[in-house]
Amino acid sequence: MCSSPGATATHCPYCALQCAMTLTVSGPGAASSSASASVEVSGRDFPTNQSGLCRKGWSSAELLKHPDRLREPLLKNDDGEHHPISWDRALGLIRDRVLATRARYGADAVGVFGGGGLTNEKAYLLGKFARLALGTSRIDYNGRFCMSSAAAAGNRAFGLDRGLPFPLTDLGTARTILMLGSNTADTMPPFVQHLQAARDAGGLIVVDPRRSATAELTSEGRGRHLQPAPKTDLALLLGITHVVIMEGLIDEPYVHRRTNGYDDVVRSVAPWWPERVSSVTGVPARLIRETAHRLAEPGGTYILTGRGVEQHANGTDTATAAINLALLLGLPGTPGNGYGTLTGQGNGQGGREHGQKADQLPGYRKITDPAARKHVAGVWGVPESLIPGPGLPAVELLASLGQPGGVRCLFVHGANVAVSAPNASSVLMGLRSLDFLVVCDFFLSETAAEADLVLPVLQWAEEEGTMTNLEGRILRRRAAVSPPPGARSELWIMARLAELLEAPSSFPDDPETVFTELRAASAGGLADYSGVDYAMLDAELHDAELHRGELHGRELHDGGAGAYWPYPAGSSGTPRLFLDRFAHADGRAVLHPVAPSSSAPFASTPDGVLTLMTGRLLEHYQSGAQTRRVSDLHSTSSEQALQIHPVTAAGLGILDGAEVEVSNERGIVRAVARLSPAVRPDSVFLSFHFPGTGNANVLTSSETDPVSGMPEFKTTQVLVRVHRPA
Ligand code: SF4
Repeated sequence: MCSSPGATATHCPYCALQCAMTLTVSGPGAASSSASASVEVSGRDFPTNQSGLCRKGWSSAELLKHPDRLREPLLKNDDGEHHPISWDRALGLIRDRVLATRARYGADAVGVFGGGGLTNEKAYLLGKFARLALGTSRIDYNGRFCMSSAAAAGNRAFGLDRGLPFPLTDLGTARTILMLGSNTADTMPPFVQHLQAARDAGGLIVVDPRRSATAELTSEGRGRHLQPAPKTDLALLLGITHVVIMEGLIDEPYVHRRTNGYDDVVRSVAPWWPERVSSVTGVPARLIRETAHRLAEPGGTYILTGRGVEQHANGTDTATAAINLALLLGLPGTPGNGYGTLTGQGNGQGGREHGQKADQLPGYRKITDPAARKHVAGVWGVPESLIPGPGLPAVELLASLGQPGGVRCLFVHGANVAVSAPNASSVLMGLRSLDFLVVCDFFLSETAAEADLVLPVLQWAEEEGTMTNLEGRILRRRAAVSPPPGARSELWIMARLAELLEAPSSFPDDPETVFTELRAASAGGLADYSGVDYAMLDAELHDAELHRGELHGRELHDGGAGAYWPYPAGSSGTPRLFLDRFAHADGRAVLHPVAPSSSAPFASTPDGVLTLMTGRLLEHYQSGAQTRRVSDLHSTSSEQALQIHPVTAAGLGILDGAEVEVSNERGIVRAVARLSPAVRPDSVFLSFHFPGTGNANVLTSSETDPVSGMPEFKTTQVLVRVHRPA
């Protein structure tokens, strides 16, 4: 471990890049409470961030001493206010309410909602806690809102889903990178350095309806920005694929040797010639052809997707279309080329591997698979019959709150659904209709404010554990300071509650012991961690040689820090997947034909109605519950702002700085108008980091993707009008 006295090597609390940082503690000793210690953040040399941090990372220590920090359990009394109570009383109350709910309504009336920012240890224990201590099938997590479409597409194409199936540093050798629906220049700025080689070669191609900060990187001959109409990404991909097939650009030996389903995909893209796609997307046919030819040129090509194309009710099909294109070009599993999806939340990758998903058990196993159930039951020391079957995906789980046959008592860990769930007003009503809501958090988030009982938990710099970054690289999170005396780890909370509820299995509360159990539970699964341990991760040098290499004449070395799954015991991990075979039984990838839905695939927007797009800002992370409390970030971005094209604004009589109302049948959002040519005249843009009257998710629909359960977050139709002139 590269820590010196007073300095702790760890990783950023926020996004999936998991930038390496050093926390240097001064004050009355390294064991200082986070409230009294002074903690300085510095970037640490690591392959993914190469010492860089974004503004969120640099300012993250402010969270540790924040006056809003929760320090004792809070119970909401009849007066509607939260009042401090003891831990003994809090845990006893939870036991009583769980037992009463189970007795009256059955075990599935108790639900759990987890988070993609939880450590691997917490995500694992939460799945076990729900199924064995609470006895419920009703567990899902906010990763359903993040990676579920990309995961579903990856599983059906490759038989395995790992965000980037190669080290991020491999991008440094690329001549061409196609990025679809990803704004990394704002969401994870240190990532941009990995795009430099492609930019230097004029080969960064960004697909985004908005002229985002990432799209700006293509200017001055560095690449191209394709700006399709919102919700037409799938048609654009079919058009590029059409050209690849019809103009003889496919990698025929690869397609023949490594894939199934070619003929079906040829038929499916036949109707999508460039001129037709241009009429749907607005992207000139010439650019569609040029893009296809550029992707097929030798020298290193990568296709990367993000939430912009995935967070739709057809997100799985759109991600599948991107994978089809990559497979036809022979990219996945070919050194120096590839396909990947960019995970968003801090542990968005690990969070979906260990069993907090409604349909999965640890090791990325299907909960309906008899062999998986037998293995996990063996590790847990219980009969298979005690493991419930599949639960409800997140949107359905939230829709069931307080409903007959639905969840009456809910535990929330690491999520702020009152802000981050689609159709947020109805979710808020659901939370308020519960018999009992328990929220574990370190701040009184908008969801915690609704809770009957709030349990104060540890922050990232106060706990040990592991995270798995966007490359599938397992990393150590390390404690630099002690937590406030009244806060507890979620592992401790689950272990104590499991005892009180007389769970039929033991629940350790020490992170390393939990990780040891996780390793055993994952052994033999797709996400196999069995060969990884804390000592290995702490050494951070174990596989440096393995990760060294050369591609396209450039030296590659990703530093060897961390460990890439699958990492079965006795192996040395898997930095690059699919080199010899894909994870389907026959070792081949599946080309899966997709097409826009036949009923009104690209319905036109009625006059006066605009398409709202939602997304992230540089300054904030997720629901903003943390970053809105950081003074530097708040001072730059303190309120909801609507990006609107100057021509559109003029037509509506809106001046820059005016307060506007953005509305549809689900609700109204107030925002300050910001005139910007970055958005198309047919669209407006809101971020999703703000609560209350600024919450963009009041407007988003709970329509979901039929394969993944992903809600339609990215687009909806709205009216915009002046509320108060500038
Ligand atoms: Fe943290 Fe992500 Fe910023 Fe890196 S890019 S410092 S991980 S928020």
